Amino acid sequence: MTKERIVYLNGEMVPESEAKVSIHDRGFKLGDAVFDNTRTFNGEVFKVREHLDRLYRSCKYLRLDPGMSKDRMAELTHQVVDANLPLLEEGGDYWVIQRVTRGVDPPSHNAADATGCTVIIQCDPIPFTQRATLYRDGIRVITPSIRRTPPSSLSPRAKTHNYVNMVLADLEVRAQDPDAWAVLLDINGNLAEGTGSNIFLVKDGAIYTPQDRYTLEGISRQTVLDLAHEIGIETVEGDIDLFDAYNADEVFITSTSLCICPVSKINGAPIADGNIPGPVTARLERAYSGFVGVDIFQQYLSRLQ
Ligand code: PLP
Repeated sequence: MTKERIVYLNGEMVPESEAKVSIHDRGFKLGDAVFDNTRTFNGEVFKVREHLDRLYRSCKYLRLDPGMSKDRMAELTHQVVDANLPLLEEGGDYWVIQRVTRGVDPPSHNAADATGCTVIIQCDPIPFTQRATLYRDGIRVITPSIRRTPPSSLSPRAKTHNYVNMVLADLEVRAQDPDAWAVLLDINGNLAEGTGSNIFLVKDGAIYTPQDRYTLEGISRQTVLDLAHEIGIETVEGDIDLFDAYNADEVFITSTSLCICPVSKINGAPIADGNIPGPVTARLERAYSGFVGVDIFQQYLSRLQ
């Protein structure tokens, strides 16, 4: 058994250390690429169809042909996961990532002339230990001065390799508080999203989240909205701002790896009574855990030293 994880790269399964991409690849040079990112629960890939639907929507937005059907991409994804499962630590899970770049830059340097793309499928262990305290203490969120790229410049609904907008936001936030997470405002001053997360507020028993025009259509976000409907929690998708956040009863963020994670403070202001998690967040977390067959809080909290 190999000790190294296996990656799919352009038609081949290779060890990670042998997976090499050209310095002329447009994904590397220009961020001219898309990706998507799901995870495993107990070794099962979560909502692979929904993630691949989003990946192919991102491709369409970039006029990028991944050169294979969604079914083939799903099949290869499962092959990569199966090859890497024996390397997972006990109780661990993987991020499962597909990347499609526009490939090697053609001599004209014109995107329209590019032939053939680079396709990568890889697994990365989720850092449960490093993030365990977030579930005990809640996440401290800070809204940086940098605003989320507006849809008129680059649609946040496409998951492209252009994360510099959010990288700069993270750097700004972590210079103030190394453990805080950035959630960017959109250009209108409403809450948008974080580097890899969507945000929800709870007020009077209902949950509120920004509409997906200004944010990525998070698969975990949609899972929470669906579960909320099932268990009778009202949901509202629309503009929410810092006034709403400071007056919220609870705040939580959603993401593939975190699923649901409570927020303790926004810009230093404590959320309501400081209960981590608040009652609505806890109900949704239990519903989420039931849905995926893993106690998601426990998966993190069990790693606390
Ligand atoms: N927003 C951005 C910019 C992201 O990169 C992600 C992560 O994929 C999310 C939100 C959350 O989406 P998901 O729940 O599908 O992980």
